[in-house]
Order: sequence, then structure tokens, then C-alpha cells
Amino acid sequence: MTNNFSYVKAVSLAQAIKELGSKGACLHAGGIDLLGCARSEIFPVEKVVSISGLKSLAGISARPDGGLKIGSLARLSELASSASVAAKYPVLAEAAASVGSPQIREQGTVGGNLCQRPRCWYFRGDFECLKKGGKTCYALSGENQYHAIFGGGPCFCVHPSDVAVALCALQATFGISGPLGTRAVRCEEFFVGPNKSIDKENVLLPGEIVTDIRVPPVDGTMQSAYRKIRARGSWDFALAAVAAVFETDAGRIRSARIVLGGVGPYPWRADAAEKLVAGKKVDGALAAAASEAAVAGAVPLRDNAYKLDMVRGAVEELLAALLS
Ligand SMILES: Cc1cc2nc3c(=O)[nH]c(=O)nc-3n(C[C@H](O)[C@H](O)[C@H](O)COP(=O)(O)OP(=O)(O)OC[C@H]3O[C@@H](n4cnc5c(N)ncnc54)[C@H](O)[C@@H]3O)c2cc1C
Repeated sequence: MTNNFSYVKAVSLAQAIKELGSKGACLHAGGIDLLGCARSEIFPVEKVVSISGLKSLAGISARPDGGLKIGSLARLSELASSASVAAKYPVLAEAAASVGSPQIREQGTVGGNLCQRPRCWYFRGDFECLKKGGKTCYALSGENQYHAIFGGGPCFCVHPSDVAVALCALQATFGISGPLGTRAVRCEEFFVGPNKSIDKENVLLPGEIVTDIRVPPVDGTMQSAYRKIRARGSWDFALAAVAAVFETDAGRIRSARIVLGGVGPYPWRADAAEKLVAGKKVDGALAAAASEAAVAGAVPLRDNAYKLDMVRGAVEELLAALLS
């Protein structure tokens, strides 16, 4: 049962921002996540402000610096099927292609994917958990096989977006517009953990909208890839995922970005592994050492220590595949 709400289809960004100023107003892009949350009454939805008709937020294009501009309304299917994205940023195309199902990728937007709410079954279920203003994270003593092994507490849900993990590895920046003007925020600083913000997962202020995503240019030495491990072959969120971006020089890794998904409250930098491989030629021993470094600092809960092996395996496999 969905409560009644009013609906506005904005004809300009300025109108959308203004309409979002009223109580209970929620932004709608493709609607997959928002309408699910409304139906399950995860948060109050009194007015739906749709930006789905704003052409200025659509599409994927080249930036003057040679990088990529992704409109927040670009469909996940566009990102997954773009030949130029696949050629320059395989990690991003692979992450987008791994999202849900063809129908979800066709309807879901990149902005909506980045700003979707967590999939924790206590948050999504009929529980007054910490995130919904309650006093308890039920995952701590409850069913916690899908929860965080990094950065948990006081809430232990994991960040759900595959695309976010790839964008953090690529050092993307998000363009944001709101009542106070425009700003740009680095992907890494966009997402916040429950120790800083319990009721929201990013730094967006009321009325702010992600307008576009800017991905820096690549040179010929960059290699990248995404590995996602899930319970089913498709239509499923990551149990663990790894996005890796390497700049290479004469067979050595000049610099590395290794970011983990499905294991923390936001895309989780495996910085110990990055440091370990930087400046080195990869062989089996280094790949094994990097995979161990990638789980440094993990604190598994009762039922999710299996994620450690998934991270180790995915990091080792990615290093071997990219640099062999
Ligand atoms: C069965 C199923 C399987 C799925 N599997 C995966 C998966 O494997 N990997 C994965 O990453 N995702 C997965 N998803 C999530 C799915 O990709 C997202 O729900 C979808 O991309 C949301 O996009 P949307 O355009 O429909 O967003 P909406 O539902 O319109 O919006 C989602 C949220 O983001 C906010 N929002 C939307 N656009 C913006 C913007 N531009 N600026 C600021 N806030 C905004 C909305 O207010 C809302 O809170 C799955 C979903 C389902 C239902």
C-alpha cells in the first residue's frame, strides 16, 4: 500500500530545486528505488518531484579535457553499452553492466543508482532501526551475512551501488545544484559513513540534485576492470566487488586505485593494497600479498567473514588478469 502523494514533473532544474523545498518532497529520476521506498514507507513521501523530463541532465558526452561527462539521468544501460566508455573505462562499463537486470538498467539512472538507499533488510523491513530513528542496529545481533566488514558502526549496512565503486576508483567528481548554487564534490567525499551521518548516505543538502558526473581523461597506460561476486548470476547486489584502476609504466604499476564494494557503508578504498603494488611489477607473490593487504582492518560480524575470502580472491584475480 502506498500513501497518497502529489506529483510534479519539473520543466527546469530551477523548478525542481524549488519544489524540493517543501516538506516530504522527494526527487524522482527513474523511480525504481524511490517508489519501492514509498510503498514500503521507509521514509515519508508527500510530494514526488520528477526530473525525468530534464534533457539537460541526460546523455553521455566527451568533455573538452578528453574526460567523460555523464548526465545524472543517463540510463545505466547507456553506460553499460557505450563503446567509448567500454574502450576507455572498462571498469565503469563492467560495473554498470553488472547492475540488476536489463529492465533495471534500462529504467534506472546513474544519479538514482548513486543515491539509492541501502538494501539492508532491517532498514527495508518493518524494523525501527537506527537509520529510521530507532535505537538499535538489528544487524549486530541479527542476520548479518550481507552486512559490512569495514567501517561498520553504529549501523552496519553496506553501500549498494556498483557504479559508485567504479567512479571512486576513477576519481570522478559529481556536479551538484541546489538552493545555494552549484558545487562539485569528489566521489570519495560524496558518500559518508554512519559514524558521520546516520540517516543519509551522502553529503547532499536538502534540495540538492546531482546534475552530472565528471570522469577524468585517461592516457594509454591505464588499465581497469570490475569484479563482482553475488549470490545469483544476475539481478543481484554485490556480496563483494572490486574496482581496480592501474596506471602502468614499462610493465610496472605506477599508481593504483583499488576500491571495494558490498563490504562497507561507502565504496571502500583498499589503500594498503594500493600502496603495496605501487611502483612494482606484478607477479603471483605480489598479487597474493596485495589480496591480503586489501582486507587489512576488516572486522567481520558473526556471519559475514566469508566476504574476506571473496575480497582476497577478487583482488588477486584482477591483478593477475590485468597485468599478466
Ligand atoms: C531487483 C533489483 C536489483 C538491483 N540490483 C542492483 C545491483 O546489482 N547493483 C546496483 O548498483 N543497484 C542495483 N539495484 C538498484 C537500482 O540500480 C537502483 O534502484 C536504480 O538505479 C535507481 O535509479 P532510479 O533512476 O530509478 O532512481 P530513483 O528511484 O528515481 O531514485 C533513487 C534515490 O536517489 C535519489 N536521486 C535520484 N536521482 C538523483 C539525483 N540526480 N540527485 C540526487 N538524488 C537523486 C532519489 O531521490 C531517491 O532517493 C537493484 C534494484 C532492484 C529493484
